[in-house]
Amino acid sequence: MLSNRAARDVATLVHPYTNLSTFRETGPLVLERGHGVWVYDGDGRPYLEGMAGLWCTALGYSNEELVEAASEQLSRLPFTHLFSGRSHDPAIELAEALKELMPCPTSKVFFTSSGSEANDTQVKLLWYLNNALGQPRRKKIVSHVRGYHGVTVATASMTGLPANHADWDLPLPGFLHAGCPHHYRFAQAGESERDFSARLAADLDALIQREDPETIAAFVTEPVLGAGGAVVPPEGYFEAIQAVTERYGIRLVADEVICGFGRTGEWFGSQALGLRPDTISFAKAVTSGYMPLGGVSVDPALYDVLVAQSAKLGTFGHGTTYSGHPVACAVALKTLEIYRRDRIVEGVREKAPQFQARLSALAGHPIVGEARGIGLIGGLEIVADKASRAQFDPKAGVAARCVAFAQDEGLIVRFLAGDRIAVCPPLVIQPGEIDTLFERLGRALDRTAAWVAAEGLE
Ligand code: PLP
Repeated sequence: MLSNRAARDVATLVHPYTNLSTFRETGPLVLERGHGVWVYDGDGRPYLEGMAGLWCTALGYSNEELVEAASEQLSRLPFTHLFSGRSHDPAIELAEALKELMPCPTSKVFFTSSGSEANDTQVKLLWYLNNALGQPRRKKIVSHVRGYHGVTVATASMTGLPANHADWDLPLPGFLHAGCPHHYRFAQAGESERDFSARLAADLDALIQREDPETIAAFVTEPVLGAGGAVVPPEGYFEAIQAVTERYGIRLVADEVICGFGRTGEWFGSQALGLRPDTISFAKAVTSGYMPLGGVSVDPALYDVLVAQSAKLGTFGHGTTYSGHPVACAVALKTLEIYRRDRIVEGVREKAPQFQARLSALAGHPIVGEARGIGLIGGLEIVADKASRAQFDPKAGVAARCVAFAQDEGLIVRFLAGDRIAVCPPLVIQPGEIDTLFERLGRALDRTAAWVAAEGLE
């Protein structure tokens, strides 16, 4: 029986990324408020927010300084824009602050309102650039299976997950997917991480040769695959991939939408994993999720081309009403100030050993095939048989059931396609809360195993 509020929700909302058929029965968890790493439902019941919302609320909930930054900007100038030469201080100061941090050559920053728009902008800028450089055939975008890059037509095409393609008539032509860098799932028997990485790089090379290197604009990758399972690519992967992209002059785009701003224990995942991108996309933790903001870095050579094209065409024809929204920029500026002042990134490095040890210990659980992670992000692979790594029938929804048990235990984690579970708490989580998180997750796994046995699933 749904509560009144849940029934009203089901009657009125189309929820993103939700099984709309089962959801009608279960209804939503309606949250009312949050504090620190805790969120509370309408009955005042606390849940440890083990997913930082959607991989974004790095500073936790009710951060008064962020609230004040938003409120102050709302009172002063709630809206202006960056079109036709208009500007405002929060955008200027934020761009200056970001330029200093970027892990790639950056002379300018372009703002969007989301990660999808940031990655979409990357594609458009590459197409525009290559047209201007007289290379109109260089348009194809290579990403990899299980990469996640967003939901616009172009970024859903870049994404390598079935739910984003099936019956959406995607991917668009010219969006290609290389092998997924998940050693546990895709390595051959006995293949070392380095050998697996070398094989993926050789496969990428072959794909590029087949397609014609002159037609490939960019390779796009997340430093750590988020929606693909919180997967850390194997040893030597980026080194091997970069050797290929550099050989053919293919630009490397790092999608830092999840990894950016400390998640891996470095400011950017690229720095933690030895990736040397030409450009990055960011979003989420840039505002700690308090306001929608994303963006891309622009290198000096690209910017020169944009200027030259404007001279020719009369304008740089890209941008949305909310590109560089002043309230979002003011909140981001304050967020970056807090990251620096409170040594949030260093704090991640200090807490990571405890977090990763507790996560790794779950690999001993009878239904967990693999536990993997870096910094304060981790993933679990739920399996029916540890020896063969066989998975449960996807229709059984075992990971979804585990997440429901976790919620019942007062913990929010996220299930991902393929019976995977992601854990990605606010970066301000304290050691005692890390213990609580994993105790609750352990109990949820025990209850899932008991349920699997009772249902006779295999
Ligand atoms: N890129 C990555 C790595 C993401 O995880 C996401 C969202 O989760 C996106 C892009 C898309 O961002 P948004 O949902 O803000 O459009």
